[in-house]
Amino acid sequence: MTASAPKTRVALVTGASQGIGRACALDLASAGYRVIIAARSADKLAELAEEIRASGAEAHPVALDLSDAASIAAAAKAAEEAAGGPIDILVNNAGVTRDGLAMRMSAEAWNEVIQTNLTGAFLLTQAVMRGMIKQRWGRIINISSVVGQSGNPGQANYVASKAGLIGLTKSLALELAGRNVTVNAVAPGFIETAMTAALSEQQRAAILDKIPLGRIGAAEDVAAAVRYLASDQAGYVTGHVLNVNGGMYV
Ligand code: NAP
Repeated sequence: MTASAPKTRVALVTGASQGIGRACALDLASAGYRVIIAARSADKLAELAEEIRASGAEAHPVALDLSDAASIAAAAKAAEEAAGGPIDILVNNAGVTRDGLAMRMSAEAWNEVIQTNLTGAFLLTQAVMRGMIKQRWGRIINISSVVGQSGNPGQANYVASKAGLIGLTKSLALELAGRNVTVNAVAPGFIETAMTAALSEQQRAAILDKIPLGRIGAAEDVAAAVRYLASDQAGYVTGHVLNVNGGMYV
């Protein structure tokens, strides 16, 4: 008798209502994964779930507010219920910015960004890692940023959250390696999404000037890196930060 095929793996993607998270969910679904899509915007998630189902794949929307610990706990439970078991792949993608010079940054602006981007990712990871540990297979993929490595004036809160995600990635990689759970980060450069749409033409030109590959990235460029890290082929890669930045920081 031949060994049975592994069950179809299930991926939970946060911040899936738009931008990079949406692209990750579509890409993972097209690669055959079951996807659980999480964010605050229920309407956008419902539309995306329809689109994924229309393509023949499985999708479950889950309400999630990463600034609220109770919402995170409830979302983790709902995701595992929808999955019918542990989450195999967690993509901590959701993120916010509240830019300003450090000198004038309010504690509220600092806390909002750290809570959503870093503490929220940690709490969700903590909630779903138990299942991964138990089944001795898991993939945790944290979406950091090029600025988490390079720094960026006017973004002390955001940069601290993204650098924090890299530290979290490395520590968790060491803690979970013995359980066959890999933990990696993806560090995008400038990617065409709502987050970068507000840039002026002048700002875009200045950014393009710093990108050796000569173009702003697409959400799909990041999704392809996430798909690789989620795969069996990436099983010997852990604690790594994969730059998807057109060469702007090497
Ligand atoms: P985006 O278009 O602004 O999307 C952000 C996503 O995060 C949305 O789906 C949003 O959904 C979700 N989100 C925000 N606050 C949330 C909260 N409290 N709870 C749950 N979900 C929340 O941003 P993006 O450009 O796709 O960025 C995605 C990730 O890549 C972020 O972590 C960002 O820092 C990182 N990144 C982006 C770039 C870039 O150039 N675009 C570069 C480097 C890194 P709801 O509003 O529906 O909740």
